[in-house]
Amino acid sequence: MSETIFSKIINREIPADIVYEDEHCLAFHDINAQAPIHILVIPKKPIPKVADANSDDQAILGHLLLKARDIAREQGYGDAFRLVINNGEAVGQTVFHLHIHILAGREFNWPPG
Ligand code: 5GP
Repeated sequence: MSETIFSKIINREIPADIVYEDEHCLAFHDINAQAPIHILVIPKKPIPKVADANSDDQAILGHLLLKARDIAREQGYGDAFRLVINNGEAVGQTVFHLHIHILAGREFNWPPG
């Protein structure tokens, strides 16, 4: 897989407003926030998208979800947050390093646009 901007953030080659890090994942504010809180949670393993994950990735995928939940709570949004994963260019994925968007702090419509 070719290096993405998110690999560069993991490697501290470009800056980001990091809110959480552990050995498996990193979370930082989205540079183009779509809500009062818009944070991205990414695995350190460079999985391009959910469709590329395999059974070895089960634990990391679960870890990302639970950390997204914890970060939303730590940011003060309790149980009122939306998690989004875009899978593939056709549905809006622009960075091909798997990431969960945490969005909170405003009203959200359903279905999403
Ligand atoms: P996607 O469209 O792939 O689901 O989401 C990619 C997200 O990454 C977008 O919301 C975009 O604003 C964000 N993003 C792209 N480049 C950077 C960057 O260099 N730094 C940060 N913090 N976010 C970025």
